[in-house]
Amino acid sequence: MTHAPTGPAVDPAHDDLGAAWRSARPRPAGRHLDSAACSRQSHRVLEAVAHHARHEAELGGYVAEATAEHLLQQGRSVLGGLVGMAAADVVFVESAQAALAALLTGWRLPPGAAVACLPGEYAPNTALLRAAGLAPRPLPVDGLGRVDLDGLSRLLASDPPRVVHLTHIGSHRGLVQPAAEVAARCRAAGVPLVLDAAQSLGHVDTDVGADVVYSTSRKWLAGPRGVGVLCVRPPVAGELVPLLAGAADLPPLRAFESGEAHVAGRVGLVLAVGEHLAAGPERVRARLAGLGRATREVLEGVAGWRVVEPVDEPTATTTLRPPEGVDVVTTRARLLTEQGIVTTAIGRERAPGEMTGPVLRVSPHLDATVDDLEALATAL
Ligand SMILES: *Cc1c(COP(=O)(O)O)cnc(C)c1O
Repeated sequence: MTHAPTGPAVDPAHDDLGAAWRSARPRPAGRHLDSAACSRQSHRVLEAVAHHARHEAELGGYVAEATAEHLLQQGRSVLGGLVGMAAADVVFVESAQAALAALLTGWRLPPGAAVACLPGEYAPNTALLRAAGLAPRPLPVDGLGRVDLDGLSRLLASDPPRVVHLTHIGSHRGLVQPAAEVAARCRAAGVPLVLDAAQSLGHVDTDVGADVVYSTSRKWLAGPRGVGVLCVRPPVAGELVPLLAGAADLPPLRAFESGEAHVAGRVGLVLAVGEHLAAGPERVRARLAGLGRATREVLEGVAGWRVVEPVDEPTATTTLRPPEGVDVVTTRARLLTEQGIVTTAIGRERAPGEMTGPVLRVSPHLDATVDDLEALATAL
């Protein structure tokens, strides 16, 4: 998108939230603009993780886990609330990818069943669908890669897929999909909707009416690495067959929760979700959207780099196409080693159905400032 230079960049809003988020965690070594890869955890989250690990050494791992069960159940409840589901519909796994793998393993859909996905689907997701014997089919989209809702309605009426799988916000593009509208149309057509919320949980509203939502701890919720969540509404949960039957006194979906796990990490995620709720999800979303807008305004056209997203897309993630002859991987490395600015270089292989070349991804969290963005502009 072109955007005429405007003088001072737009105020990202809710500066108090930025200051509180910054003071709640260790000082960054440089400028962290990479939350779409991994956010910075707070002191309280880091301490809760360490505390649980210590408890394991004192009490025994399984005894410590039992003492944490009440907290973990609160976490399932709160995470469920963020996606419009109940605690019984939520299980902890190791990552978003592990969640999708667990879902597909349990669902046992017939070989060749059609799964409609974005042309810009995250490549590891497409690979998992294919490995499960399923047939990815393209969802109709506009020129930017956003679902064309009328086209979706026509697809659902004429040639409905077995499942629609929608990645809510891409890894390679800070575009948010109209997930609530997609969910309503899928529901009306009787087609289950699976939502990849790896980039959207804690970033935009994820209570959109999807039948399955899965996500990860370390990105926008700023929890520990190595933890993910799988949330499944009862009608789809009833179609899942676990490897081994779960305990009779637990919700059936619990059979899909990984037994051996970094329980301390799960404890940390529960604390991180609590911090997200305390900050106020709507205020968080407003500030993240404001930071995205500020990022695009500050960076568009700088040294020939071009912003891919519309300037007012309500996300914090911005991707930049390089000027002719500039290598994105080298630029990312130079920003890190010379300026201490953390970003991600994304190659075409991440979403080969949509990307035409590499991009530099800039994804500030609440603590970022216009000064950070201007430092990046200067460095570019
Ligand atoms: C990061 C990401 C994933 C995978 O998450 P993991 O927790 O690393 O498995 C899936 N989908 C999207 C869109 C992502 O950005």
